[in-house]
Amino acid sequence: MTASDPVSRAAELRALLHRYGHEYYVLDAPSVPDGEYDRLFRELEAIEAAHPALKSTDSPTQRVGGKPLPQFQPVPHAVPMLSIRTETDVTAQGALAFDASVRKELALTEADAPVDYAAELKFDGLAISLRYEGGVLVRAATRGDGVTGEDVTQNIRTVGQIPLRLFGNAPPLLEVRGEVYMRRDDFDAMNEKQLAAGAKTFVNPRNAAAGAVRQLDPAIAATRPLSFFAYGVGEVSGWEGAPAAHSALLDALAGFGLPVCAERVRTQGGAGLAAFHDRVAGLRAALPFDIDGVVYKVDALALQQELGFRSREPRWAVAHKFPAQEMLTTVEAIDVQVGRTGAITPVARLQPVFVGGVTVTNATLHNEDEVRRKDVRVGDTVIVRRAGDVIPEVVGVVLERRPMVDEAGGDLFSPVQRPQYAPFELPKACPVCGSHVVREEGETIARCSGGLFCSAQRKEAIRHFAGRRMMDIEGLGERYIDNLVDLDYVHGIADLYRLTLADLLEMKQRADERDGMVPETVKAGQVASKWAENLIDGIAASKRPPLARLLFALGIRHVGESTAKTLADWFGDLALIRQAPAPLLRVLPDVGATVADSIADFFAEPKNQQALDALLAAGVAPADTHAPSAAWRDKLAPAELYAALGVAKLTPVRARQLAEVAPSPQALIDLDESTLSGLPADVRASLLAWLANAENGAMLRALGAQRDALLESLPADLAPQGVLSGKTLVLTGALPSLTRDEAQAMIEAAGGKVSGSVSKKTDYVVAGEAAGSKLAKAESLSVAVLDEQGLRALLGGV
Ligand code: NAD
Repeated sequence: MTASDPVSRAAELRALLHRYGHEYYVLDAPSVPDGEYDRLFRELEAIEAAHPALKSTDSPTQRVGGKPLPQFQPVPHAVPMLSIRTETDVTAQGALAFDASVRKELALTEADAPVDYAAELKFDGLAISLRYEGGVLVRAATRGDGVTGEDVTQNIRTVGQIPLRLFGNAPPLLEVRGEVYMRRDDFDAMNEKQLAAGAKTFVNPRNAAAGAVRQLDPAIAATRPLSFFAYGVGEVSGWEGAPAAHSALLDALAGFGLPVCAERVRTQGGAGLAAFHDRVAGLRAALPFDIDGVVYKVDALALQQELGFRSREPRWAVAHKFPAQEMLTTVEAIDVQVGRTGAITPVARLQPVFVGGVTVTNATLHNEDEVRRKDVRVGDTVIVRRAGDVIPEVVGVVLERRPMVDEAGGDLFSPVQRPQYAPFELPKACPVCGSHVVREEGETIARCSGGLFCSAQRKEAIRHFAGRRMMDIEGLGERYIDNLVDLDYVHGIADLYRLTLADLLEMKQRADERDGMVPETVKAGQVASKWAENLIDGIAASKRPPLARLLFALGIRHVGESTAKTLADWFGDLALIRQAPAPLLRVLPDVGATVADSIADFFAEPKNQQALDALLAAGVAPADTHAPSAAWRDKLAPAELYAALGVAKLTPVRARQLAEVAPSPQALIDLDESTLSGLPADVRASLLAWLANAENGAMLRALGAQRDALLESLPADLAPQGVLSGKTLVLTGALPSLTRDEAQAMIEAAGGKVSGSVSKKTDYVVAGEAAGSKLAKAESLSVAVLDEQGLRALLGGV
């Protein structure tokens, strides 16, 4: 309920803003997003402007920040720490308006030159004043209410970026003003740790930073990853040759060893400011920390002095905001969506809200656990966040606004209330196909078990299959896919290739009738068919894809473009890939156990094999089938394969030992236990238990057969494949005579591959001068390290 007369509304707004301000500044735990606070703040400002009699000194519009906490020593600020007026017109107009107000205050006419400004980022953290005496940090204080702050020296001393002693010729007394903040990656990592420890997580980096600075225990503060930017000064004395402009002042602070953000400019006039605002808006999502706008400051300190202050803010600065990334709205319903792999994602349907520059109507709730943890319910008021191009998400619920109903048992004076809506529960059956929804042990994602029987999964699978980087079927848009599936023209991907022109035209007609949208031209007997002809052509044109694209298009879990390419390069033939047992896939470079198992599982499913057969029968065939890579020869060594079997305790060393007594998979099946005496008892026991499992026996047989087939089809002459076939090398540091590109070209010409990071699968690290962490990693993993000469020797040169 909101009061309609200005007196009560002003009182209501003050009470709300006082409360939100207390939660934000004092408790570091806001219950509403900044956008909501700003909206109410502006409303109160407007009422006070229209009714000056309603202004009072205790109004939130007249004061700065929050009261200092009594647990900290109070610190009086000789130069008050003020607020900055906020310009909420997020267009270029906001910048022009500030310039106009400055020119007016300074009584400049059109004939006068443009004003010089310093434009900076508005960091979203906590203001700090650092007092340096004789260049040494003696005290750090929060802003508090602007006049009195809190002594947080102990905590601030733990922030590595804040110098305890300044460099160079620092003035005898220098108070540095700046922002303590937390980088987003640090914030995410910290929250993950908190979650793992079962501790409370933080809502956003600003509150996490503010909470850390105002932590009573410096030992805890020290574990919080804080960063700092200086943006101004407070009390200063004895500074000889002090700069006369703000931008030069920041340069000087940087010279003393203080972190100053590089993303700032000195510019002229309103147009210069608007250009900065525009550029930073584009940069915002890519910055490693949160900003909520930019700050413009009149550059000349003499002009700043001339302009002076209003009650709580300087006239020479303004904060020009960006569209808010978090807003409040209400949840109208919670639906679930079914993805290509059957993943069930709860989605909040929202009262439309303008956030992050767009109108948002849906926000992902990620998964069941997330909904439970946040306890999002229908009717709730929620904070929605949309940053950059990220999918909008529900950050949290404003619990006090949850709709409640009276429950039996209470009376008029003490009613008992309960939430109107129950907690969210994931449906037990898929809302699209009715199949069971299953959530496996240890998985966060629940899935529809319907597979391609589920039309939602079918549609997503077809959408993926037809995608630009997959089969690239031109003309097969989302709406056609929906209709083809809903009206039963397409059950699986192969059906696409059997569609006729008549099918498509009939489908369109039925869809139009179903939707009550039969075009006038059709009623008059004309049928548009060009689109259908184009689509038939588009489908036909997709029949001979490169093998890698076909593999990617199949939608095998964990198989992206690069894994698909690895499979295609190594096997060369779909027929081999679809029969490959998991160990054969595990030995491939860049294919880990999860990916390998997922590929093997996909092809172990008869339905998938049938779908693939149908696709081939419909005339789809990879255009670039070729013989397997000669590099297989090394990978097919029994020791390599045994180490990839997944037998517990069978390390590469033990696998090599085993290969000596069982030189092929078939030999391993027929193994005489007594020959295993060379292996430690635990390895032996683990291997025998594994072999006793019939499924593993069958898999070994398949592995043996595949190995033989591969070996047979390998090109007989290895020479052209080069000495580094199948080897992965990593380059680091500067080599004495070869550039990176030259070294890479030489390695690749010899059949080797150059990778960017060192892992257990790396065969050699080639290290030059100033080699860094890659060399250290190579040493820790016992990967062979070569210098340039070593590389040349390996390549057979000198
Ligand atoms: P402000 O927006 O008036 O700006 C002043 C502050 O900006 C300084 O104290 C400093 O910390 C910071 N700043 C960042 N970069 C700067 C730079 N380059 N130069 C100078 N200063 C820089 O700050 P305020 O008065 O603390 O509060 C207003 C903000 O706090 C609003 O964004 C408001 O939405 C938010 N707030 C939110 C709630 C809530 O409940 N969500 C409550 C109160 C306030």
